[in-house]
Amino acid sequence: MDSKVVKFGGSSLADAEQFKKVAAIVKADSKRKYVVASAPGKRFDDDIKVTDLLYKCFELAIAKKNIDETFSKIKDRYNGIISDLGLDFSLEDELETIKAGIIHRASRDYVASRGEYLNAMVLAAYLGYDFIDAETCIFFDDDGNLDTEKTNRVLSELLMRHSRAVIPGFYGCMSNGTIKTFSRGGSDITGSIVARAIEAEIYENWTDVSGMLMADPRIVDNPKVIDVITYGELRELSYMGASVMHEDAIFPVKVSNIPINIRNTNSPEDPGTMIVPEASGGSPYIVTGVAGRKGFSIINIEKDMMNAEIGFGRRVLEVLENHKVCFEHLPSSIDTMSVVISTSELRSTKYEMVAEIAKVVNADRVTVEDGIALIAVVGRSMVSAKGTAVRIFSAIARENINIKMIDQGSSERNIIVGIEESDYKAAIRAIYSEFVK
Ligand code: ADP
Ligand code: ASP
Ligand code: MG
Repeated sequence: MDSKVVKFGGSSLADAEQFKKVAAIVKADSKRKYVVASAPGKRFDDDIKVTDLLYKCFELAIAKKNIDETFSKIKDRYNGIISDLGLDFSLEDELETIKAGIIHRASRDYVASRGEYLNAMVLAAYLGYDFIDAETCIFFDDDGNLDTEKTNRVLSELLMRHSRAVIPGFYGCMSNGTIKTFSRGGSDITGSIVARAIEAEIYENWTDVSGMLMADPRIVDNPKVIDVITYGELRELSYMGASVMHEDAIFPVKVSNIPINIRNTNSPEDPGTMIVPEASGGSPYIVTGVAGRKGFSIINIEKDMMNAEIGFGRRVLEVLENHKVCFEHLPSSIDTMSVVISTSELRSTKYEMVAEIAKVVNADRVTVEDGIALIAVVGRSMVSAKGTAVRIFSAIARENINIKMIDQGSSERNIIVGIEESDYKAAIRAIYSEFVK
C-alpha cells in the first residue's frame, strides 16, 4: 500500500511543543496516514512519564490510599497540552471515568493503557484524523500472547474504512473483553502491527535520538548512528538492552519484509537508521553495535568426564524446566557446564534448583555467581572478519576486566561476554573504542 505508518514515542508527545513538531512531520508527507501514539513521556530529566504516574495511582488505590494528588498531575498534563494547542476539545468526562475506575479497582493493565488512549485522542483531534481504539483491533489470546492472525484480519479490514487515523499504542484486548498491555515500551509493537496490517511501504519510528546508535548514549559519549541494520542484528541488540526499540517490534513487519526507519522528532532532517530484512553490503565498521544488560547469574556445574556422559545436559535442563526457568546461554567445556540465567528468573528457587542439579547429575561442584552483566557485540560483518573475538577480549583485558563467560551465537553475528556488573560501563566503552576509531 502506498502508505506509511508513523509511531511517536513518549518524549515526542510530551507537551504541546512536541505535538506541534509531530503534526509538522505528519503533514510533511501525505503518505503518513496512520499514526500510533505513546503516552506523554518525560519533558526533562526528573519528569515522570504519564504511564508511571498511572502505575502509581494503581498502587495507591490498591493500598486504599488517596489518588487525588497523583491523578491531578496526569490531568494537568493532558489539559496543559489541550489548552496550549488551543484545541476546542475536552477530556473531562474521560478523566472522570478513568479516575473512578482506578478507585474502584480497575485492572493494572487497564489503568496503564489509559495514557496512550487519552494521548491518541488528543493527537487525533489536533491532526483532524479519526481515532481508533486499540481495544477494538489488537487482540490477545487466553495465554496473554498477541493473537496475530485475528489482529491482522480485523485491523486491515478496519483501516480500509479509515483513510487517516490515530491509534493508541501499548495495549489491546483479551477475548474476555479486558484490556491487556504489552511490556514496557510496547507502543513500538503496536506500530509494527499496524504497518503489517496495511502492508505499509515503511514503518517510521520517531523518537528522541537520530537513529539506533552503536552504543547506549548514556554510557558512550556521542556514539555513531547506525545507518543500516538488519532485523536480526536489531533483535540481538534490543534484546540485550539497546532500548531504543522494543525487542519484539520487528516480528509483525518481518512477515512482510517492511523496513523500519528510526527517526528523531527533534531533528527530522536526519535520515536516521534503516532496519531492513537483509543488508546488501557490510557495515562501515566490523561491529554494528554493542549493548548490554545487568542482572544475570551463572550456575557453574563441574564434573570430571562430563563430556562422555550421555544425557548430562538434558538432566540439567529438565531441572530448569520443572522450575519454569528460562536460560539465556549455555557455554560448556569438557568438564564444566555453565547456565546463564536472569537473576530475577531464579527468584527464590535458586538454592533448591542448585541442590537438585547437583543431585541429578551427581556433580563434583555446583556454584552460583550473581551480579553478572552480559555484553553483546553484534555485527553482520563479523562472520567474514577474522580476529574479531581477539580484539574484543584484548580491549576488555586492557581495562583489567575479568571475563567470566564467553558465548558465540551460531549465526556468528554476535559474541557475548559475561563480566562483573561493576565493570559494565568500562567494558562497553573499551569495546566501542576498539572498533570505532
Ligand atoms: P520513545 O519514548 O520514543 O519510545 P525510548 O526512551 O523508548 O523512546 O527510546 C529512546 C532512548 O533509548 C534514547 O533516548 C536513548 O537514551 C536510549 N538508548 C539506549 N541504547 C540506545 C542505542 N543503542 N541507540 C539509541 N538509543 C538508545
Ligand atoms: N507508555 C508505555 C511505556 O512507558 C509504552 C511506550 O511508551 O511504548 O512503557
Ligand atoms: Mg520506547
